[in-house]
Amino acid sequence: MKNLSIRVKITMWFTLILVFITSCTYVIVFSVNRQLMQKTIRDELIRTVEDNVDEVEYYKNIGKIDPQEVDYYMAFRGGYLEIDDDFLDKVNEVYTSLYSEDVTLLYGENPISRQTADLEFADAKIQHLTVNDTLYYIFDRKLVLEGLEGLWLRGVVSENQGMTQMAAITQLLLLFLPLFVVLAVIGGYLFARRMLRPIQEISESAARIGDSGDLKERIELGGGNDELHQLAASFNEMFQRLEDAFETERQFTSDASHELRTPISVITAQCEMTLEETRSVEEYKLALRTIQRQGRKMSKLINDMLDFTRLEMRAESYTRESVDMTELVRSVCFDMALIKEKNITLKCDVQEGVRMQGNRQLLSRLLANLISNAYRYGRDDGCILVGLKLVGQGTELSVCDNGIGILPEEQTKIFRRFYQADNSHSGLGTGLGLSMAYEIAQFHGGEIRVESEPGKGSKFTVILKN
Ligand code: ADP
Repeated sequence: MKNLSIRVKITMWFTLILVFITSCTYVIVFSVNRQLMQKTIRDELIRTVEDNVDEVEYYKNIGKIDPQEVDYYMAFRGGYLEIDDDFLDKVNEVYTSLYSEDVTLLYGENPISRQTADLEFADAKIQHLTVNDTLYYIFDRKLVLEGLEGLWLRGVVSENQGMTQMAAITQLLLLFLPLFVVLAVIGGYLFARRMLRPIQEISESAARIGDSGDLKERIELGGGNDELHQLAASFNEMFQRLEDAFETERQFTSDASHELRTPISVITAQCEMTLEETRSVEEYKLALRTIQRQGRKMSKLINDMLDFTRLEMRAESYTRESVDMTELVRSVCFDMALIKEKNITLKCDVQEGVRMQGNRQLLSRLLANLISNAYRYGRDDGCILVGLKLVGQGTELSVCDNGIGILPEEQTKIFRRFYQADNSHSGLGTGLGLSMAYEIAQFHGGEIRVESEPGKGSKFTVILKN
């Protein structure tokens, strides 16, 4: 059963239900029909006998009988019985016969006269008698004639009479119901196959994409907006996201190897050059300092890459708690003010009691990245202003400097990974600081933007949701 296709399973269920419904219909039709048939037979019997009641007359004397007369006359108890020619002794398989009180058949037909010989007359009542496995209905009427008593009309009809009609209906049902079931099953199977074809296409496309690994492929179902088209659209969206993720991953790996190649080349070149001949102590020291600087750069790059990857790929590993932002900003500013690079002054203007839900480590990192950039791209004797305040539904964190500024065309690019607008000032920069800040802002449901004027300075503003 498990290995059967959905198409076949649906058809099987459909067939079972149909056969069940058909059988029920058959049973219901059969029993209702039988009851109706029995009632019709009994009604017919009563009507025929009642119609015959007035067709029998008794005369003490009659004159000369007209030779044209077609009615039947018989001598009875010193008089005559006249049986009208309208007397129905056999109509629609209903037999009517005239009896005397001692159950002597006087006129008419009775197919079971022998068996009913002992059956007492019961006026206007239906009696049953089974003869040779056939059920007979018997209806008696006592005749009240002028001058004569003790005559009975007895009507007899067998149930077989109705059963022949029932058998015809049953045969029709037996022929047409299975035919109807077969037609419905074939129709249902074709319909299910047509309806489920898109699923087959989806599964084939998914298998093809899985085999070829080509995430650019999409499932094409043509026009429509039913559940299957929506499913295909969801698959396509998933492939798009996978493709984006792989592309990002590929780009990241290529950028990372590119960034690592520079310090490695510098170290290798420095070593080769220094080892070419015997050098003075000062020259060796110079070479070692270059190697040390490049080593630090590599180390920072690797750490930044690891942090960045963790935030991008496993953001859920960073927990959220209630963070006292006032205290956090003050503490980071206090630590970073100690840098005192280029004689830059760091000030902070912080609103009291600002709290938000977030990750303390990431928020410190965000602020530290922005402040290090402000130092790195700041001017000698310049200043940095860090601000924190509550705005609307969020918290606004800003870092403003009066450094070299950023060209307008660069301002949208600086948040990209490894993008460095100004190499001359980048020093130990890796090009990951702002993209990391961007990711951290996103993690907190916030955003980051820059306002800057070349030669005058830059202001980075982060809006974080509380
Ligand atoms: P980097 O490690 O090179 O600083 P970032 O991602 O932190 O990398 O910054 C990307 C680029 O944005 C920098 O190379 C620099 O050109 C520019 N930038 C960032 N902050 C500032 C700033 N405060 N003033 C001027 N330029 C900046």
